[in-house]
Amino acid sequence: MTARADAPQRTDARGARRSASASAVLRAILDEGPIARSTIARRTGLSAAAVSGHTAGLLRLGLLHELPGTEKRVGRPHVPVDLDTGRHVAGALHLAVHHATVALLDVRGNVLVQHEEPHDGLAAEDVLARAAEILDDLLLGHAPDREPLGLGVATGGWVDRASGTVVEHPLLGWRDVPVRDLLTASTGLTVAVDGHARSLVHAEQLFGHPRARESVVQLFTGNVVDAAFATGGTVHHGPRSAAGAVAHLPVDDSAEACRCGRTGCLEATVSEATLARNAGMPFPDLLALAAAGETAAVRLFHDRARLIGQAAALLLDVLNPAVLVVVDRSIAGVPGCLPAIRDEVGIRSLRPDSAETVVGTSFPGTELATAGGAVLLDLLYDDPSYFTNSQN
Ligand SMILES: [Zn+2]
Repeated sequence: MTARADAPQRTDARGARRSASASAVLRAILDEGPIARSTIARRTGLSAAAVSGHTAGLLRLGLLHELPGTEKRVGRPHVPVDLDTGRHVAGALHLAVHHATVALLDVRGNVLVQHEEPHDGLAAEDVLARAAEILDDLLLGHAPDREPLGLGVATGGWVDRASGTVVEHPLLGWRDVPVRDLLTASTGLTVAVDGHARSLVHAEQLFGHPRARESVVQLFTGNVVDAAFATGGTVHHGPRSAAGAVAHLPVDDSAEACRCGRTGCLEATVSEATLARNAGMPFPDLLALAAAGETAAVRLFHDRARLIGQAAALLLDVLNPAVLVVVDRSIAGVPGCLPAIRDEVGIRSLRPDSAETVVGTSFPGTELATAGGAVLLDLLYDDPSYFTNSQN
C-alpha cells in the first residue's frame, strides 16, 4: 500500500463526503478499537451499510483486522475490528538544528525505533541524502515485513506544507529547500512535509491529550521556538503556512541579543543554545546536571521556565485554547519546570483556570520522531482513501 502520487484533487462533494466518512470510521477505531461495526455506526452516526463498506475498504488496505470469536452474538456486524499495527509503518524525519531524528512509527503513532544523526556542517542535500539512507536501514532492520506508508518530515522554521518546501530556517541556514521533492526522488516514497509545532498538534489530537481535539496551542521551545494553533480538527496555517512564528515575541527582563537585530526576543532568550552558552557547557550536559538536582543548573532551568511561562500566558489569553501544550525537554527531565511555567502563567494570564490548562507533551522522549511521523499519519486519518493498495 502506497499513496497515489497522482491522487486527484477531490473537488466533488460526494468524494469529499465519502472521505470524511472513512476518516470518521478510522478515527472511531483508533479511539475505541477493538470495536464492533454496529458500535462504530452508533458512534459516528453513519448507516450500518456505510460502516460496513468503509471497514471492508480499510480491511482490504490492511489497516484493520477482525478479531473473531470475542463476541457472543453471531453475525458480522458484531465481529470487532481493530487497527492492524503490524502491517504498515510510517517513516519519520525530524530536522533539528544540530541533528536529524529518523524513526518508524506504527499506525497508532507508537515509535518503534528512532535514530539520532548529527549533521553539523552538512549541506541540506547531504543531510537529506543521509536521512534517506538511515531510513532504508531502519526499514530493513526493524520492519522487513511491513509496508512503508511513506515518509513524514517535520522541522522548525518556516515550512510551506503545500509545496513541501522549507522556505526559511535561519538556524539551519536553509532557504527554499525542496525537501519533499528531494526525498521523494531518493526514497521512492510518498513524502509530506510540515512544521513540527503543527505536526505535534496533529499528534496530540490523534494520539495524545483528550482535550486537544477541542482546541489546542502547541509551544515548542528547543533551539527553535515556535507555536501552532488548532481549533476543532483544523490547524491554522495562514498564507504560505507562516503561522506560529513566535520566535521574536518580546519577553520581560531579557537583554539577550537576537539575530533579528533587537534584544529580548523569546527564542534568543530561552533557546537551548542560549542556556548552554550561559552555563558554559553543552545543553545535554546541562540538562543531565539539572536532572540530577545540581542546584545552579536547576535554577537556570527554572528561570527559563518562567520566561517560557510569559509567552504561554500571552498565547493562552489571545487564543483561549482548551489546552496549551509546551514541548520542552526540561519538563520531563527537570523537576519543577512545569510548575514554574504554570506559576508564571497563573500570575500573568487573565484566565482563572490558566495554570492547569498548561501541560507537557504527550510524547516525552519521542516528540521529534512523533512530529515527523504525525505529518504522514495525519494524512492517513484525514483521508484513508489517499492511500491505495498498490498490489491491486
Ligand atoms: Zn528577534
